[in-house]
Amino acid sequence: MKSTFDTACIIQTIINLLPQNQGIIALHEPGFRGNERLYIEECLQSTWVSSSGPCVNRFEQQLAEYTGIKYAAAVVNGTAALHLALHVTGITRGDEVLLPALTFIATANAVSYLGAVPHFADSEERTLGLDPAKLDRYLARIAAPGPGGCWNKKSGRPIKAVVAMHTFGHPVDMDPLLDVCRRYKLILIEDAAQSLGSFYKNRHTGSWGRAAVLSFNGNKIISTGGGGAILTQDEILFQRARHLSTQARIPHKWSFVHDAVAYNYRMPNINAALGCAQMEQLPGFIKSKRNLAHRYQEAFAEVDGAIVFKESQNACSNYWLNTLLLNEEHSHQRDIIMEGLHQQGILVRPTWTLLHKLPMYRECPHMDLSGAESLERRIINLPSSAYLGGA
Ligand SMILES: *Cc1c(COP(=O)(O)O)cnc(C)c1O
Repeated sequence: MKSTFDTACIIQTIINLLPQNQGIIALHEPGFRGNERLYIEECLQSTWVSSSGPCVNRFEQQLAEYTGIKYAAAVVNGTAALHLALHVTGITRGDEVLLPALTFIATANAVSYLGAVPHFADSEERTLGLDPAKLDRYLARIAAPGPGGCWNKKSGRPIKAVVAMHTFGHPVDMDPLLDVCRRYKLILIEDAAQSLGSFYKNRHTGSWGRAAVLSFNGNKIISTGGGGAILTQDEILFQRARHLSTQARIPHKWSFVHDAVAYNYRMPNINAALGCAQMEQLPGFIKSKRNLAHRYQEAFAEVDGAIVFKESQNACSNYWLNTLLLNEEHSHQRDIIMEGLHQQGILVRPTWTLLHKLPMYRECPHMDLSGAESLERRIINLPSSAYLGGA
């Protein structure tokens, strides 16, 4: 028999599942129990700490090998990776770029850096990512085919690309999204910042679009302190991204010749040293996180009024962040639950404020966002560090 909805019961279910009397339990902590110290010491000994060195190349090879994506360019953070990925795929001033309203701010900011315009799309509950069927119906209404792409009939601007973000590590439903992109001639870019180790139909997230990005910030599944990467199967895009990340300097023994206005975005070797050690531990992290997700799901199987999000049929998720999803009728009690857990030192979080509500993005075009708005009211992210899954 199912119990009736009760905030105290929800709070207790979460407390029971987590280690007791260990002080604060963060939403997501990195773990450095591998070769981090060894590789950083080697890095210091060699004095190669900065913008070139052997660890960066090794880390990039590890990323390419693990994801099965041919080329990886490591950069200073995920936001810079997004900026470069959009730049090299040809996004420019005045273009509209479709992206979910339910994402971290960096996805939209990178679009803005290029003078392009974020155009917000809705998310579906099944994946927590872009809703391809709804996007399709929307584009059928507002988009007109044009030479080499499509146009927004209302704004008169070209709609150039879609950025799919794999929310909390869970893959977007890529097949129908790819179909929409094909029919409307949209460039697909994947914001896989949260989904290293997540697969859709046995292919790694980030391998479906023309380019993809990863983040290795302190709260992501692996961390290099700060860091990010651009992934692509396209050698030309990769070379261009690499070149623009290193001030567009033409390789030469001594001369400083640059052939474009570019960026200082290359990942420092000392950060990559952390990355090499973290990649060795990634399979273990994923095992622990999937185990933790399973325990949350079991614990809430008999609780009324809320579920713990489960990967969809085509997905194998890294479960970067576990998600408690309240039923709509209980969403007004979300903050009571969060307050109760914070009082116990359990640092749960709501999701991001939808981007179209923020002052700098209020004027941007958007479709009906009722799916994302519902999710925004109902999501509570649960502590999800790998160590909680018994690694
Ligand atoms: C973390 C994150 C980024 C940005 O990565 P940084 O390394 O913090 O710059 C971009 N998009 C999403 C969805 C993220 O979660």
